Amino acid sequence: MLGLTRWSTSTTANGQVIAREFNDILIQRHLPEEHFRTVAIHELTHAWFFYNNYRDLPLGVEEGMCVMME
Ligand SMILES: [Zn+2]
Repeated sequence: MLGLTRWSTSTTANGQVIAREFNDILIQRHLPEEHFRTVAIHELTHAWFFYNNYRDLPLGVEEGMCVMME
């Protein structure tokens, strides 16, 4: 794994989401610049989906969209 986007949610006892927070993006150190850019674009696309509230998008679809943006 070369990159990771992390966010968290707070839920009530019955599972209702009451808060969402974007935490950070982690990217492997010392990647060649072109490779770093590819990973950054991928992770920033995950961030875009988070901030645009695509909550019910299947993970496989989101992952595919992030790969397509690279
Ligand atoms: Zn991804």
